[in-house]
Amino acid sequence: MATVTIYPGREARLTGGHLWIYAGEIKNVDGTYAPGDIVDVRAADRTFIGRGYINLRSTIAVRLLTHRREPIDEGFFRTRLAEALALRSRVATGTTASRLVYSEGDGLPGLIVDRYGDLLVLQCLTLGMARQQPAIVRILEELLSPAAVYARNDAAVRRLEGLPAEVGFVSGQAPTVQEIVEGGLRFRVDLAAGHKTGFYLDQRENRQTVAAYAPPQGEVLDVFCYTGGFALHAARAGGTVTGIDISAEAVAAATEHARLNGLTERCTFQAGNAFDLLRGLARAGPRFDLVILDPPAFAPSRSRLERAAAGYKEINLRALKVLRPGGILVSCSCSYHVSEELLLALIAEAAADAHRRVRLLEARGQARDHPIHPGMPETRYLKCLILEVT
Ligand code: SAH
Repeated sequence: MATVTIYPGREARLTGGHLWIYAGEIKNVDGTYAPGDIVDVRAADRTFIGRGYINLRSTIAVRLLTHRREPIDEGFFRTRLAEALALRSRVATGTTASRLVYSEGDGLPGLIVDRYGDLLVLQCLTLGMARQQPAIVRILEELLSPAAVYARNDAAVRRLEGLPAEVGFVSGQAPTVQEIVEGGLRFRVDLAAGHKTGFYLDQRENRQTVAAYAPPQGEVLDVFCYTGGFALHAARAGGTVTGIDISAEAVAAATEHARLNGLTERCTFQAGNAFDLLRGLARAGPRFDLVILDPPAFAPSRSRLERAAAGYKEINLRALKVLRPGGILVSCSCSYHVSEELLLALIAEAAADAHRRVRLLEARGQARDHPIHPGMPETRYLKCLILEVT
């Protein structure tokens, strides 16, 4: 096994639990290795730091799998996967869809596994994990006996690792549209063409929490509604919901989901650009009791932060203008680079501009089946702020 030695002073972050070694932190590599192989990592003074897989083609050159001198074999992955599954049986209840493996949050960098009914969808985002894919699939079959396992290996980040896009069944065969039940509501998830692996599992707990703020007979606006997740939960709670999304496919799916759940009379979905539609709604004056903003990541990288901040402020300003006094604003951001503090500051600025007062009631994050690694702030990305507007 080759050994990677890092520059002096670079070990503190790693001994604090972080799992990434950047290419620029590597002083030298002793021994031969192929991309994706397991290597040992040592500090400049030779102290053992951990063991992980290497790919010098990526800026994240090594991802640690363990801080111990243990073999990285099928037994290692079986133990990690079993631990991941044990957590889900505690925290992902009341749903047939959940995230079974959340990459670094489960000590398995580069691996995502989602469950939709008795189907699994897997993503190997790094070369090191892609090399383990056959073993991972075997272990998942052994532990869960899924009807089929579908690989959604088409995420853009794979390109940074020199990996091609590959989608399709890697075990069994099944229809790629799968019905799931979340909190008693039915959704048809498109594993092949849907966003991420088909559904925004990270918002599951927030969808249910937010629904409790929908006043019966109240008016709800779900902006960036995708296939109607927040909208349907709010409609079932008694609200009359308008959902907006730029994707015609998402709006068609949301409309179908309303029908599937007998909520057609309380739901209207509209395809269009949220910025434009919100401006139009604002002209008609305050009308809504609950507005949900769940935009795509406006800041996928730090360099886009400034423009992203302007975008977040803009949608929050528009949302505040359509909310009735006493209404509830749910403002989300899935950009890791936009901190909770920044998002709240942008909402405060928007409130000042809109001449509204806001009070923060709840600061929430991703669902518990996306566990946060305390040494890796990158694993905490979703913000969901719930505010009262007066
Ligand atoms: N709240 C959803 C997830 C939203 S993801 C749920 O719980 O399932 C963000 C959505 O924003 C995507 O569906 C995307 O199609 C949509 N979107 C992106 N840009 C948009 C724009 N400018 N206007 C409206 N919708 C947009």
